[in-house]
Amino acid sequence: MSIEPLLSVSGLTKHFPVKRGIVFQSAVGTVRAVDGLTFDVAPGETLALVGESGCGKSTTGRMVLRLIEATSGTIRFAGRDVRTLNRGALRDLRRDMQIIFQDPYASLNPRLTVGQTLGEPLRLHGLASGAELRRRIDELLTEVGLSAWHALRYPHEFSGGQRQRIGIARALASQPKLIVCDEPVSALDVSIQAQVINLLQDLKRKLGLSYIFIAHDLAVVRHISDRVAVMYLGKIVELAPKRSLFARPRHPYTQALLSAVPVPDPAAQRTRIPLAGDVPSPLNPPPGCRFHTRCAHAQDRCRVEEPALRAVGDEGQVVACHYAETIVPPIIVPENEPPYARRLAALRKLTVAAKAYSS
Ligand code: SF4
Repeated sequence: MSIEPLLSVSGLTKHFPVKRGIVFQSAVGTVRAVDGLTFDVAPGETLALVGESGCGKSTTGRMVLRLIEATSGTIRFAGRDVRTLNRGALRDLRRDMQIIFQDPYASLNPRLTVGQTLGEPLRLHGLASGAELRRRIDELLTEVGLSAWHALRYPHEFSGGQRQRIGIARALASQPKLIVCDEPVSALDVSIQAQVINLLQDLKRKLGLSYIFIAHDLAVVRHISDRVAVMYLGKIVELAPKRSLFARPRHPYTQALLSAVPVPDPAAQRTRIPLAGDVPSPLNPPPGCRFHTRCAHAQDRCRVEEPALRAVGDEGQVVACHYAETIVPPIIVPENEPPYARRLAALRKLTVAAKAYSS
């Protein structure tokens, strides 16, 4: 028996009209920011949306929450049609769906104390008041690794990592089922990133949360996601369970992205696939396969016929490429290969040899 998805998105599209003129504005074009996305998120699952800047991943996250209105398509959350909800129903929905923003400083009101920031959603949704409100604020702060006395402080008194913890606590206040994490660690130092990612993992396990995790850092995505959707120019080009995607990427764009992930061991065997040129404008995307202008495997068919997302292999991968079966994936560093393992082994051998020589 298959699990009913918590979120189900079908044919989701966002087109922004481009207007010219100061008084009598006329439409001169359309930016196709998101073009027909279809994906599900299961309860307790983390789906990562990855891709270069401008590929439409943040727009997708905001459309799911109805922070911006979609042009077409359907969004169903826990059986409800999100796009047809009225204001009251939308407010109830926001209790179940929350967002963590990229910039922890800009997303917090500098005039409110942390306690006031966390108390706002609790009061708005009628979840707590009086002594219960204070108890719940203390609980939220403890849950994200801060202390109860932090409630009296203002955002500027915290470091970037602490501010992101406050952002997480605010998202948790309404006890949501789904959180859209929009590049939640890309503004943080690497050491702090690891702490925040581990916190998100712990909270997911403890509270049974689902995440849509938007990121461009594939090393982070590898750590936190269950499935990964790779986006290019407003479309999903590959969607797969994390293990399959990192072990055997099928789409040439995914292969290029993975080949560029830095690895700590310079001696590790890997193939680099350079991406030629820039991403074409979403104002005028290329015909056929949108990736054909940068793809080393492009053929005549790619320039005229758009590839549909289709199942390839038997590991749950869907890929939008005419030649996904025949393109040989590059050598990607395996997930469990310990960094520096080879050099440590060589060092150990040298030490044993030196001891044997001196004795
Ligand atoms: Fe490359 Fe053609 Fe596949 Fe597009 S369909 S990714 S251009 S090989």
